[in-house]
Amino acid sequence: MADPKGFLTTSRQTPARRPVDVRIMDWREVYLEFGAGQVERQAGRCMDCGIPFCHSGCPLGNLIPEWNDLVHSGDWRAAAERLHATNNFPEFTGRLCPAPCESACVLGISSDPVTIKQVEVEIIDRAWAEGWVPPRRPSQTAQAAGRRVAVIGSGPAGLAAAQQLTRAGHAVTVFERADAPGGLLRYGIPEFKMEKRHLDRRLIQMLAEGTEFRCGIEAGVDVTAADLQRDYAAIVLAGGATVPRALAVAGADLDGIHQAMEYLPLANRAVAAADGAGGGRAGDGRRAKARRGSPAAAKSGRPELNGSRVNGHLDQSYRELGHRELGHRELGQRENGQRDSGPGAAIDATARAGVLPDSGAVPDSGAVPPSGAVPPSGAVSETAISACGRHVVIIGGGDTGADCLGTAHRQGAASVTQLEILPRPPDGRPEGQPWPVHPAIFRVSSAHEEGGTRVYAVSTQRFVGDENGRVRALVLVEVEPSGGGFRPVPGTERELPCDLVLLAMGFTGAERGPLMTDLGVEFDKRGNVARDGTFATSVPGVFVAGDMGRGQSLIVWAIAEGRSAAAEVDAYLCGDTALPAAIKPTAVPLR
Ligand SMILES: Cc1cc2nc3c(=O)[nH]c(=O)nc-3n(C[C@H](O)[C@H](O)[C@H](O)COP(=O)(O)OP(=O)(O)OC[C@H]3O[C@@H](n4cnc5c(N)ncnc54)[C@H](O)[C@@H]3O)c2cc1C
Ligand code: SF4
Repeated sequence: MADPKGFLTTSRQTPARRPVDVRIMDWREVYLEFGAGQVERQAGRCMDCGIPFCHSGCPLGNLIPEWNDLVHSGDWRAAAERLHATNNFPEFTGRLCPAPCESACVLGISSDPVTIKQVEVEIIDRAWAEGWVPPRRPSQTAQAAGRRVAVIGSGPAGLAAAQQLTRAGHAVTVFERADAPGGLLRYGIPEFKMEKRHLDRRLIQMLAEGTEFRCGIEAGVDVTAADLQRDYAAIVLAGGATVPRALAVAGADLDGIHQAMEYLPLANRAVAAADGAGGGRAGDGRRAKARRGSPAAAKSGRPELNGSRVNGHLDQSYRELGHRELGHRELGQRENGQRDSGPGAAIDATARAGVLPDSGAVPDSGAVPPSGAVPPSGAVSETAISACGRHVVIIGGGDTGADCLGTAHRQGAASVTQLEILPRPPDGRPEGQPWPVHPAIFRVSSAHEEGGTRVYAVSTQRFVGDENGRVRALVLVEVEPSGGGFRPVPGTERELPCDLVLLAMGFTGAERGPLMTDLGVEFDKRGNVARDGTFATSVPGVFVAGDMGRGQSLIVWAIAEGRSAAAEVDAYLCGDTALPAAIKPTAVPLR
């Protein structure tokens, strides 16, 4: 405990968000830099508890008091090592996790909890900047003993499993049906919550470690279940759980009504295409123009982004890896034993392999191309589903809904209303959710701060269309709890005008596509792939990790599952394992 009085003398502080009118003109992350010395002071608030309840809040078992102490005393490099001891991707959780560790922090009983998440992200950002995150290739001996493993899906669960198994010496191939890896990190979660460069940087590290990525390949279709079982000694299913909950009311098939996960991937693709083509970062032409003329944007504290940003960034990252930590010789070594001539060649190889999105490859201006890719902003303003100029209603008050909200504002929506069937949560901990559980309280995310109206305790009864078959309104009714469900309050029906509706009502489980059918894996009652206490499915040699086995959850749980499943796969293949396992498949959040 570096500062025995820190929790008494220092109050909790978190970084400020960029001004709303500036940040909705671009897609960049919303937070400003934390001032020098502030992180150390915040870390000094940690009491180094005898029983650190923050550990119990985190499924990864992050060694929180250890890295708080190291940061406070200025040993950032050791802090980064402790961080990586339990978490493959702290830059993802440090930006995106709702931080159940902070809800469980002992200091939170009598004061504001330690800013654990902020300390985490500061450590890892510094580690990357200093070149302390080298690829960790397995030894020749480990590789010689390794087996071939297929990982299906490249979300955080698949990436964590793949990285752990690669480092243990196995030859891991990740199959991803999208054109680039990342799962919901790439095409679900918007850039303003986590810029994709953080994901790309990790992927480059994984490539350098020897993980192979095959994108644009749907397992079960482009490569069959039989192929996979023949060619790989083990298979890890990490395909997520994105079967959306439908809204079965009259008019639900009108034009202008879409699932959130139809809308968000298109928006993410539009941002990536705009970025790569030098069209700026705003989601539509009007905003792009406004942003270009905005001195406030220029002062927003981060560099302007331009067309070469993605490739330039990747190149820079790879050079950092190559020059500082790895050396050209090892970096150039490829799986087949040939040697490339250095980082540049490796970048080319990466691009050739089609692993990372080709940021320069955008369709011809004007046409809305197939597969959701859209022309660059500035040249063409609309995504295939755009909120620009529309009155948007989002049905569902959760995080997915908030992501739609922030995206709609950046696309230039005329108005946004978010509907939620549950009553408004209380501002403080409800009695039934005492410390250390993560409470359901009223939260104001950055997207909520940017505008829109939240309406609670309402249910949608039907949609109303115009003469062209497009939604022009929805009819809602207030509801009250009744017998475990909700009943309408008589006389409260009203019409809400809208011409774009986004459904964000959660997910019902894993897809039951050809791969699942052909493998013959069993499902549980909740619609997830069933597994035993070792993450093994009903089919020998086939394991499952992440949302596909747990149901739609959080990134921190997906990483914990990927790490733990990797340990079980390693033990299955080798009879023993030295890989750490964070959780059992049956582990649940504190409640
Ligand atoms: C819009 C949205 C926002 C979210 N925001 C947050 C947040 O801020 N913080 C947080 O902690 N959690 C958030 N979550 C939840 C979090 O993203 C998920 O829990 C997490 O991504 C699950 O990881 P996963 O690896 O299990 O699956 P996913 O991330 O869903 O990845 C699965 C991958 O498998 C691929 N795939 C599926 N089938 C096949 C096949 N047959 N062949 C090849 N590839 C296949 C898919 O294309 C996909 O890329 C959010 C979820 C959504 C939907
Ligand atoms: S519970 Fe809070 S104060 Fe205690 S060790 Fe964890 S972060 Fe520090």
